[in-house]
Amino acid sequence: MLVVAGASLVAAGVFLLWQIVFGRGQNLDAATVAAHSGEVSGRAHDPSKPLVGLVAGHSGYDPGAVCPDGLTEAELNAEVARQVVALLARKGIQTDVLAEFDPRLQGYRADALVSIHADSCVQGATGFKVARITLSAIPEAEDRLVKCLTGAYMQTTHLPEHPASITDGMTNYHAFREIASETPGAIIETGFMLEDRTLLERRPQLVARGIAEGILCFLETQDHAQ
Ligand SMILES: [Zn+2]
Repeated sequence: MLVVAGASLVAAGVFLLWQIVFGRGQNLDAATVAAHSGEVSGRAHDPSKPLVGLVAGHSGYDPGAVCPDGLTEAELNAEVARQVVALLARKGIQTDVLAEFDPRLQGYRADALVSIHADSCVQGATGFKVARITLSAIPEAEDRLVKCLTGAYMQTTHLPEHPASITDGMTNYHAFREIASETPGAIIETGFMLEDRTLLERRPQLVARGIAEGILCFLETQDHAQ
């Protein structure tokens, strides 16, 4: 869930207090996730291998959506990003795990950028959705990325699509305006944190596999398109 900056500042303060009281989620920050990507280990990217950027939604910034019992969107996103890194590494694909407002997003060049988010902890909503920027410089590629992610995610998780809740925060997502115009970008909301909680919290490996399969689908069709 993407929230406005003012509300986020308040949320960040509440989160800090909540962390002090409950001490939960503090091991799942961007640095922890980034430690699993090649970037932090000091290895340079190999130009002969694909490179994919993964934004662990809200990391380094705010908790994102929060359930009444303290489950945060940021911790779900971080775990999924960590597992996507591992799945893509097995296929020889390099990754950068990026924080929500990572300075590296400016002019970021990669074969794809996927931002991982989850949706609010509200009753009566289930499903996922994928979007790209409305005014795309590379609509053909970004449509393919969205289509690959949507198809693979649905097939892997069996969640329905929930397109009615695609917001301006997704189609005008800040990172899409920061990355290089030739880098295909998409944002996924993996599910709702109440009705889809069992999947998001208990089966992050399935969530991650859906995203990784979608990225692989895109990279394979990208090779043919070039
Ligand atoms: Zn979010």
